[in-house]
Amino acid sequence: MEKTTKIGALGAIGCFSVQERLWRYLKSQRIHPALLFIGPDKQVKYQAAKGMAKLLFCLNKTKTAFCNECNNCKRIEKEIHPDVYFFKEESEETLKIEVVREVIGQMRVTPIEGPYKICVIEEAHRMNSGAANAFLKTLEEPGEGRFFILTTTQRGSILPTVSSRCIEFVFRPENDDINLAEELQKKYRDLLTEASKTKNFAQVIVSLGEKEEALKFLQFLQLEIHKALLSKESSKEGSLLFNSYSTHELTLKFDSIVTLEGQLRSNANYGLMIESLLRNHFSGVFL
Ligand SMILES: [Zn+2]
Repeated sequence: MEKTTKIGALGAIGCFSVQERLWRYLKSQRIHPALLFIGPDKQVKYQAAKGMAKLLFCLNKTKTAFCNECNNCKRIEKEIHPDVYFFKEESEETLKIEVVREVIGQMRVTPIEGPYKICVIEEAHRMNSGAANAFLKTLEEPGEGRFFILTTTQRGSILPTVSSRCIEFVFRPENDDINLAEELQKKYRDLLTEASKTKNFAQVIVSLGEKEEALKFLQFLQLEIHKALLSKESSKEGSLLFNSYSTHELTLKFDSIVTLEGQLRSNANYGLMIESLLRNHFSGVFL
């Protein structure tokens, strides 16, 4: 059998679940007040939104997780925590301005138990332009301890004025594991090593050729970052390419790659996108 390395659906094998990514994100920086969860599986994103709320509210949280058993975790799971609102997708109908005004009103009220208040809006691409415009100011400055989590299956239908105010998390489709042969990984490693020495990232694109291969290359980058992250928490060998980056840098790079992977699937002009990703994120690999 071919020897391969895997990251499971959502990067969920090992400790690199979305929850883990969110946790790293929460620890690594001031939390952005608006997050956009993108991906084909509604349930997965919804659970992740709940996970994020639990990570904030859990009474027994550990270094990497929430407990799922405390009063707060249980109430969030049942959707009855007074400071966590869920605007679920009940139908494919447009989200009207009245709904958005209700959301804004709810979020203005002081948290009942505090210190946070979270609002999850499912399938946010259903907002019409009137609703989106009414939402912009609140989305930009929701107030102390207030967070919005928008989810969508249709990234392309989210108005740019909304998405530009959010930090994006892209969720891999379920059962779409990353599974790359060791040989292919070596090829990509050599390719990136060479390109980062010569600073000729366009050469990588030429070598990749087809879009399918470009997608595999992005998955290879995810695997390498995954290894580098794991090595920081255990004595594992890690990634020869990326070990020198900090956890925070690796998390940001990982999210850029997953975002680009999503865009790549719906965009033909991928060469420039990958070149600019490499230039912006990986030009220091061998400095
Ligand atoms: Zn808990």
